[in-house]
Amino acid sequence: MGPSRTHRSKYNFSEETLTGQLLCPHCSKKFKTQGFKKHEASCKKQKDIKAEQAEFALQYARDQRRGESSAPHS
Ligand SMILES: [Zn+2]
Repeated sequence: MGPSRTHRSKYNFSEETLTGQLLCPHCSKKFKTQGFKKHEASCKKQKDIKAEQAEFALQYARDQRRGESSAPHS
């Protein structure tokens, strides 16, 4: 028995190609095929930066809390 189910992509790219537009997997916006690659690269970079910033904020908050709890009781 072969694969009974056809692989369904999370994003319907086939439909998007008919309209000449692609759906960005990072921000879910539609873009023309010509500009998509350029956007996708910068969009991914932006997402990475945001994730980096979020992690930094998390670490900062953790450090702050640690600083409070480890403050000497004198
Ligand atoms: Zn995007």
